[in-house]
Amino acid sequence: MERKQFLKMAAGGTLTLFGLSSLQWLFDEKTTAKKMPVLFVGHGSPMNAIEENVFSREWSKVAGTFEKPKAIICVSAHWLTNGTYVTAVENPVTIHDFGGFPQALFDVQYPAPGLPELAKETQKLFPEDLMHLDFEWGLDHGTWSVLKHMYPLADVPVIQISIDYRKPASYHFEIAQYLKKLRNKGVLIVGSGNIVHNLRMVAWDKINSPFGYDWAIEANEKMKALVTGHEFTALFDYQKYGQAFQLAIPTPDHYYPLMYTLGTIDKNEEIKIFNDIAVAGSLTMTSFIAGV
Ligand code: ZN
Repeated sequence: MERKQFLKMAAGGTLTLFGLSSLQWLFDEKTTAKKMPVLFVGHGSPMNAIEENVFSREWSKVAGTFEKPKAIICVSAHWLTNGTYVTAVENPVTIHDFGGFPQALFDVQYPAPGLPELAKETQKLFPEDLMHLDFEWGLDHGTWSVLKHMYPLADVPVIQISIDYRKPASYHFEIAQYLKKLRNKGVLIVGSGNIVHNLRMVAWDKINSPFGYDWAIEANEKMKALVTGHEFTALFDYQKYGQAFQLAIPTPDHYYPLMYTLGTIDKNEEIKIFNDIAVAGSLTMTSFIAGV
């Protein structure tokens, strides 16, 4: 099928699904909704998707503190690419991007619809040739393990934006600014990663202990202070903070989603912390919400 034809079909399908008038909020310049908050969620183990625990209960609670969004844009640690992409499929597949977990986790489906029109509108917000449409990716577990608890009915359209892994933290923060205006269109922006995330240092004897290694706590506390103090630029060059940060962020895949969240926060917006708990010594589930 030709690309053009596919695009046409994808657009037509979604319009039928939601009804033409229901998409006016997206295209009408004058339509503004109540400003949506912005979230960074520490997602941790994929098992959180099927467990009722302190984290998943909090995700569900947080979703109840603001209006249901019209759509969600999620930037997950688990979609790393060369270049930046946005999913433009009508029905994103549930991607089980992990191994060694129980069958029950592989059985999970999160059938939230996509919203190709939003993907195209999002693309237009960025400088030409920066954002590319993607028709292959669906929803990875960084997205669905959290949203399954926030919106269990899977009735809010979800698109994902990938992380250009060749770029530094500052780049991700800067391009996130282009997403800002979508907050006024009823779009919830979610970064999903973990600010302290070192799987090589996982302490199996601390798997359910809320106490992290000293370096994990040190890095977690410093990051919390910089985030809540709006000192975002100080988070770009994270390696300069010494060993604690180097151990907390051995690779930046789970850290970069935070940049997308911070990049869409306005000056003076209060940033609240939730799920500030360590897991297995070397991970923290620390999460942030602004604009509620
Ligand atoms: Zn992850």
